[in-house]
Amino acid sequence: MFSSMRTPEEIREYDRQWRLANPEKVKAYAREWKRQHKDVIKTRAAEYDKRPSVKARKKKYRQEHPEIRAAEKARYKKRHPDKIRAAKSARRARKIAATIGDIRIIRDWESTWRRKRSVKCYWCGGQSPGKTCHADHIVPLFRGGEHSINNLCVSCKTCNLKKGPKDPATFNKTLVQPLLLFTDDTFVAQVGQCHQDLQGSLASNLPIGESSARV
Ligand SMILES: [Zn+2]
Repeated sequence: MFSSMRTPEEIREYDRQWRLANPEKVKAYAREWKRQHKDVIKTRAAEYDKRPSVKARKKKYRQEHPEIRAAEKARYKKRHPDKIRAAKSARRARKIAATIGDIRIIRDWESTWRRKRSVKCYWCGGQSPGKTCHADHIVPLFRGGEHSINNLCVSCKTCNLKKGPKDPATFNKTLVQPLLLFTDDTFVAQVGQCHQDLQGSLASNLPIGESSARV
């Protein structure tokens, strides 16, 4: 009956002594407990992270160490170049309130040519590596063109830079071999007035309806 006469303090002290004398047993017990209570540990960690004081401390730490966020960003960029590109062009499009098409479709389309060794330019027909090509808005966003798959083409860097914000009809005329574009009415209806203008200018001086895509 001796043990029942111990005070709580004495019991605690006994425990402490036992733990000091048996560190290996204590470690093994903790390991086993952790192994059996993974969910509990996870939940507790999540609850801990949710505490306002912890949140504030973590936020402050990250603010004092901007390199952490920069490293995270860099890692993400490296792993998802296609997503970054898609997000960038969507952001650009949003800026000028262009209609935004399905970003996923655009991303899938880009991934069909971006890694190819040789891709044909929509405008000049020249071949260049996919990674050097640009996804070009046929009717520039700036002129009210949509940011959608209907209004995108693969352009070599040279053509894209030459084209800039020009409307496709004007740019088309500067090509060595202008394209017979937009003869399909449904396509014209989708992408709007600029395409109509282009079709008009082409119709006035070019043989629309020929099977060849080139003049
Ligand atoms: Zn080109």
